[in-house]
Amino acid sequence: MKLYIFGSCSGTEPFEARHHTALALEIGGRFYWFDAGESCSYTAHLLGVDLLRVSDIFISHPHMDHVGGLGNLLWTIRKLSSVKGELPQFGDVTVYTPNTDTFDGILKVLRQTEGNYKCKYQTLSKKITDSTLLNDENIKVEAKHNLHLPETAEGWQSFSFRVTAENKRIVYSGDLKDISDITEYLEEGCDLLLMETGHHSAEKICRIIADKKYPVKELCFLHHGREILNDYDGTLKRARAINPNVKFANDKDILDV
Ligand SMILES: [Zn+2]
Ligand SMILES: [Zn+2]
Repeated sequence: MKLYIFGSCSGTEPFEARHHTALALEIGGRFYWFDAGESCSYTAHLLGVDLLRVSDIFISHPHMDHVGGLGNLLWTIRKLSSVKGELPQFGDVTVYTPNTDTFDGILKVLRQTEGNYKCKYQTLSKKITDSTLLNDENIKVEAKHNLHLPETAEGWQSFSFRVTAENKRIVYSGDLKDISDITEYLEEGCDLLLMETGHHSAEKICRIIADKKYPVKELCFLHHGREILNDYDGTLKRARAINPNVKFANDKDILDV
């Protein structure tokens, strides 16, 4: 399976060569999308990703750096479908989100665009709760709430994901209040941890994972905050002094998992 990074930045003002957070896993010819920061569909299309092979989009929480590109992603899938005269290859497009207002608002905007966003397929939403969200022939996606946002009358608003595919386990932190939000996923171990650094020091996270001896085989940081944006090389050096294999994701990275 391949991991595509379309955006590696946290919710900062615009930075050269970095966009807000979005990534996808390609498994069995299908793209499973996680978060949809600004311009993710533009970057993906120009990287050669066939957006008609996207049918499941998982949104960790409703902050702009995770949903700013969602409307455009859905719009571009429809555009490609009409330009090519093809339907999305794996059926309807489903957006998994903890916040249904986000989805309803984006669809409202889309319905004011060309052709009122009428599609020959459906764009659906499913509300994320602590549960297994999807379990198909390629992938199992589990969601667990974290404390980045408080619980509301609508339920928990921010989630971390655990993906099982091709006998591998990948944890995507989403945004976290503290790394202890995902203790259970860390204790149970994973082949790859995609950990946000917008709210955390990379060096401290490396130290905690090493000290607690969590069975995390590979560690890749994304959703970079100012520590990495202001001093990429210095921060990487300090993190690698603790974990020599640690990676800092960059926009347009394509990694074998
Ligand atoms: Zn964020
Ligand atoms: Zn956030």
